[in-house]
This record gives sequence, C-alpha cells and structure tokens, in this order.
Amino acid sequence: MSTPSPPSQDIHFRQVSKSFGDIHAVKNISLRIPHGQLYGFLGPNGAGKTTCLRMLLSIILPDSGEITLFGGATAWDLRDEIGYLPEERGLYKRMKVLEHLKFLAELKGKTAKEAEPRIMKWLETLDLADRCQDKVMDLSKGNQQKIQFIGALAHDPKLLVLDEVFSGLDPINAQQIRALLMQLKEEGKTIIFSTHIMEHAEQICDGICLVHKGQCVLEGPLDDLKRHHGNNRIRIEHIGDIAFLKEKPYTASLRSRGNESELRIHDGHEPEEVIKDLLEANIKLRTFQLANPSLNELFMEMVEHPSEASMQEVTNA
Ligand code: ATP
Repeated sequence: MSTPSPPSQDIHFRQVSKSFGDIHAVKNISLRIPHGQLYGFLGPNGAGKTTCLRMLLSIILPDSGEITLFGGATAWDLRDEIGYLPEERGLYKRMKVLEHLKFLAELKGKTAKEAEPRIMKWLETLDLADRCQDKVMDLSKGNQQKIQFIGALAHDPKLLVLDEVFSGLDPINAQQIRALLMQLKEEGKTIIFSTHIMEHAEQICDGICLVHKGQCVLEGPLDDLKRHHGNNRIRIEHIGDIAFLKEKPYTASLRSRGNESELRIHDGHEPEEVIKDLLEANIKLRTFQLANPSLNELFMEMVEHPSEASMQEVTNA
C-alpha cells in the first residue's frame, strides 16, 4: 500500500480578488510560493501589494478565491508561527528596546526568558546591542525600523511577511537587511516581502509577483522570467551603421549609441535571423550577446506594454 504524500508546504493564492468599494485592489491573482523561498511582491504605489499581504495574513479576507499556507492552513491557524512587519510601523516609543522586543515575543507565545538570547543575537547582528536599554524614541528612524524588523523575528517564526521592509533605510542598512534575509532563508524560513524598489528584489528574490493595477502581470522564478525575456533582447557591438535593422519584421525596437546597440525582437523570431542580415550587410561584429533584462527593465516592459506581455506566463499556481 502506498503511503500518502505529505501535504504541500507551499503557499497558494487561488483566483484571489479584493475590492474596497469601487476600487478593485486585487484582481484574480493565482500564484504559488514554494516553501523556503525569498519571494517578492513588487509594483508601484497603490498596485495592490499590501492588500495581498494583508489577505495572506487573514487581516482582511478576499472577496473571492482562497489563500492556503503550509498544506491547507490559514494564517489565523498559524498566527504564532508568522512574523509580520506592517507598512504602518507601530512601536511603543517610551519603552526600552529590549523590553519592547521581549514584549512582542510574549505576544506570540514565547516567554521573555526564552526570547531574550535570540533578541540579543539579532541586536548584535544589527549593531544595536549597546542601545538595548535606550528608549525606542531615542533611536534614529532607520534604527527604529531595524528594531521593528527584529520584533517580527523575535519569536522565531517559520514564515516572515515584511511590508516595505527597506523603507527608511540607508544603503548600508538596506544591504545589512538583505544579507540577513538571505541568512534567514538559509535557516529554512519562508520570507515574503513587498517593495516598489526593484533593485532590492533583484538581488535576493527567488520568485516574484509583479503587481500592476491589482493584476499579476509577471509571476514565477526570477531566473526563469529573465531568461525567457532575455531571448528577445540582443546587445551588439558593431562596426558600421545598423539602422537598416529598424525596417526588419523581427525588430521591436533598436537603440544605438555609436557602435553599441540594443535590439529587441518580437516573439517568434530568432537571433540567428539578425546575425544573417548583419553579415549580409558586411557589418563587422565585435559582440553579439543575448542580454537578460534587469528587473526594472522587465517591470517597465510589462507596465508599458501590458497587451504584448503574456499574463502570468511562468506561473506555478
Ligand atoms: P503602496 O506601495 O503605496 O503601499 P500597495 O501596492 O501596497 O501600495 P495597496 O495598499 O494594496 O497598494 O492598495 C491598493 C489599492 O487599494 C489602492 O488604490 C488603495 O488606495 C486601495 N485600498 C487599500 N486598502 C484600502 C482600504 N482599507 N480602503 C479603501 N481602499 C483601500
């Protein structure tokens, strides 16, 4: 007799929608966040990222669709195993740092004694151990943000949900938090965060959901998405004028600066067609390279030409 397979540890959104009056904040989003991943909800202000995270946490409920965590549970069932950094920060400013963090851990079912070593470890890692007896209000904004981040971790959750975690951090602190998120992933935690700054996500995300006007316009493993879109983008270093490529049926766009050009070709065409035309025109090639787009470029592409972009093309849902 075969043993039943263990329930999936992944997080699933299935056709999730949410409106606030006339505002369709989230429209029919389906996706899968594999267990142990660093996953980013990305998009501009007002795109629907916070609404997705709040539904994931059961703070608000979807109008339709379903969200399940770790094999079928809801966030409400798992509340003590989730750490949440809300976009609207809420620290008791008159409390001392260590006292505050122990209090947050106690709210999530840990004893202060149990939580203290872990809290001190994080304070040391974030260069704040010497401030542990200071009042929260005496810390800079960036340091308060780091305290709130430790607050989300203090009870050792298995899922971390961080809304705009990099907000208010200078580049050095942002880098410190990125390194920590990578470390937490290595420890086996699932980490979901939102940001409108693509560079943060680019450096650390395994998977992304790009949200635009409530819709998921791009979803899946970041490497796959870049590779897929990279096939259409060619960087060329050449000797000779290649403006004639603009007239070719495969050309979507051509940008040139001196002898360096970036050519984008339409789906259904191959880079070999371009090479053939260049050689026939006696253009000498120094480099001819398929170029993966940056996340920022992908974002601009999906938002500016949503009709050309296939919706949710690399979806795992
Ligand atoms: P930001 O990066 O600015 O935080 P976001 O991507 O997180 O944006 P949401 O906060 O999810 O976006 O908002 C999506 C849309 O839903 C916006 O138009 C917002 O004004 C609206 N919205 C969100 N929450 C509410 C609410 N409680 N009542 C009314 N409208 C809301």
